[in-house]
Amino acid sequence: MQFIDLAAQYQHLKSKIDARIGQVLQHGQYIMGPEVRELEEKLAEFVGVKHVITCANGTDALTLALMALDVGEGDAVFCPTFTFFATAEVIAYEGATPVFVDSDEDTFNICPLDLERQVQKVLSEGELQPKAIIAVDLFGLPANYPEIKKVAEKYNLKLIEDAAQGFGGNINGQRAGSFGDIATTSFFPAKPLGCYGDGGAIFTNNEQYAELVRSLRVHGKGTDKYDNVRIGMNSRLDTIQAAILLEKLAEFPIELEKRNLAAQQYHNELNGKYKTPIVPEGYYSSWAQYTLVSEHREEHMAKFKQQGIPTMVYYRTCMHQQTAFQYLGYKPGDFPVAERLADRVFSLPMHPYLESSLKE
Ligand SMILES: *Cc1c(COP(=O)(O)O)cnc(C)c1O
Repeated sequence: MQFIDLAAQYQHLKSKIDARIGQVLQHGQYIMGPEVRELEEKLAEFVGVKHVITCANGTDALTLALMALDVGEGDAVFCPTFTFFATAEVIAYEGATPVFVDSDEDTFNICPLDLERQVQKVLSEGELQPKAIIAVDLFGLPANYPEIKKVAEKYNLKLIEDAAQGFGGNINGQRAGSFGDIATTSFFPAKPLGCYGDGGAIFTNNEQYAELVRSLRVHGKGTDKYDNVRIGMNSRLDTIQAAILLEKLAEFPIELEKRNLAAQQYHNELNGKYKTPIVPEGYYSSWAQYTLVSEHREEHMAKFKQQGIPTMVYYRTCMHQQTAFQYLGYKPGDFPVAERLADRVFSLPMHPYLESSLKE
């Protein structure tokens, strides 16, 4: 049994995906071919935002978002300490200072109460300018945007939604990818909507940000490709990846339901024996991961392994514990909830074709 069975998905969609790739090979427009534009339109429709700009990966999508918001030296950007490294990395990469925030015990997402505490701390220290928040839809569950937005508005902060794991989720029908001033996602193969290589996208309703990102992803181009009006990067989604994603996106609503059915079955089997994931009223998860919490993690993981069920730990190390962020001067105990989660969580196999692979 595999942790994520990408081969089963390919078998299911093979004829459609092969045909789409074949069309790209025929027309030969490998960079910014017609499939890229078509995918951007379909993604905008799916999420319910005005503008989608695809790019090379989810990390670049976050970088492009920070660039569009003009984040740089002297700025504080708030993000959860319990997340994937890229969320915090891009802040430092842009020369700004990551300010970490503790997690909510039940949802694993950024804690809005601690967020406000951290903003106030930065303000009272008076060294950095609070500029933006990157909230993460961890393991597929949208962050608590109603509360996060209140903090963002109160302190005049920009909000970025890192929906790399949450793409496909929603809160009362409003889809992940539509919550921030700018949202980003990743099409890394293991994400809920993945391609067959690297890929990413930026979502916004703001015309000005959209235009900036369109320029920034192609070397800061002006009206003409060889008229460069700002410093940008080379971050485009390959046409072949767009072609694959078009077929995967068409199947995605069905896959989301299958992921939710699998999560329900896990819940029925495991609730009581473990602390199973909590999905608040009105929230819908895309189940990037199905994550249990146990004080005896290693023991339980060994037991699953004996039954032929692979498990993984996302994440063992919080951002404030990472070697690369030692210069920020955090110490153990600074984020008690996140640290406890990092010590206790482990994830079970999760993908839309779980039922058929359980039968094998
Ligand atoms: C995967 C991931 C990213 C980065 O995406 P890449 O496409 O791998 O660069 C960023 N944030 C989160 C929360 C992720 O899970």
